[in-house]
Amino acid sequence: MTKRRSEDAYTNSIESPTYQSASYYFDDAEHVKAGLHDLSVPAGRYGRYSNPTWIEVENKLSELSGADGSLVFASGMAAHVTAFLSLLKEGDEVVLPSESYRQVRNVFHHILPKFGVTVHEFSIRDPEKFIENTAALRGRLRLVHLEMPSSPHMYLIDVARVREAVGPDVVITLDSSFSPPPNFYALQWGVDLVLFSATKYLSGHGDIVAGVASGRGDLIEKLRWYRDTTGPITDGNTAFLLRRSLYTLRLRMERVNAMGLEVARYLESHPSVARVYYNGLSSHPHFKLAQQYLNGYGGVITFELDMTEQQTAQVVDRLRVPFMASNFGAPHTLVEQSTFFTYFEYSDRELESIGVPRGTVRLALGYSNDTADIIQDLDQALSSVR
Ligand SMILES: *Cc1c(COP(=O)(O)O)cnc(C)c1O
Repeated sequence: MTKRRSEDAYTNSIESPTYQSASYYFDDAEHVKAGLHDLSVPAGRYGRYSNPTWIEVENKLSELSGADGSLVFASGMAAHVTAFLSLLKEGDEVVLPSESYRQVRNVFHHILPKFGVTVHEFSIRDPEKFIENTAALRGRLRLVHLEMPSSPHMYLIDVARVREAVGPDVVITLDSSFSPPPNFYALQWGVDLVLFSATKYLSGHGDIVAGVASGRGDLIEKLRWYRDTTGPITDGNTAFLLRRSLYTLRLRMERVNAMGLEVARYLESHPSVARVYYNGLSSHPHFKLAQQYLNGYGGVITFELDMTEQQTAQVVDRLRVPFMASNFGAPHTLVEQSTFFTYFEYSDRELESIGVPRGTVRLALGYSNDTADIIQDLDQALSSVR
């Protein structure tokens, strides 16, 4: 019996092996000293702290975003929560957009206040007003959290002006799940830490749940301590799937960017469609910001039908190409009627205040579908009502 791992027959495979190990061994006391105490040779210790497959995908993610460092997490939410817990302390004040991802808002409103964090929330529907409100808190803020584009309206933020408004010392985090590279490079615009639900475009196959934080080295080291300690980690196989997906990120984004423009233009021309929210259309209220910040507009389109909730449900029910499901960035096209999914608990008044009429539909284009098939499907479904 040997305690050592068997020697690989050869080690020149182009793709690195995927590591699944809960623990890592040392040859002798000298090796422990070098690998664990002095860090003079790279060595693993225990599966909660590190894994060679994570490290490889993290290095690729840093290259992708132009970051000093990156960390992978069990989910997008795990990345967000770890970031906020590591960067905030009692007495800190933060700003976030009212249009942020619902569970991120829940973290700010229901978890962080338990630890003495004060939360200010402003709408980004009017980007100037968001900047004005944020600037008025200058000197008091520790962190500003942004997200763009927002769902379902794809609102954008003048990120560089937020940085100007708060000064250099405030940490800016940005949820870029809807706009990964090459569509948007958050760190080039004064953002310190970019957060992703890798479940969406980064992994892009609808088959894993994962999260990523990339950014300034000192912040990444703070997050690393929290991840080591609290354990919101992924495993080697998930990291491998993410690593493999990154090879096709650019191809997939280019594909959904092209599909998105084509389908959005079709919808905008349809008489039953009252409004289309897509950053690539000049009718989008934040089109100018889109031109400034985005290199592509992605595969998610929100549109409002000139119909009741019931009629809208009939249209959505008649669609044959998309699955009725919440997600985006997957190979399959997905559709959700917003007031049946994300906002099903909202009253009429709440829906009005967030600008989501009952005829709102969110379509997430899947790169494996044919654009002409999707348009034809929308056409038959829309023509079936009235
Ligand atoms: C999905 C999503 C998240 C949460 O990510 P999970 O991987 O589901 O935990 C956060 N922000 C945005 C914008 C998302 O779309």
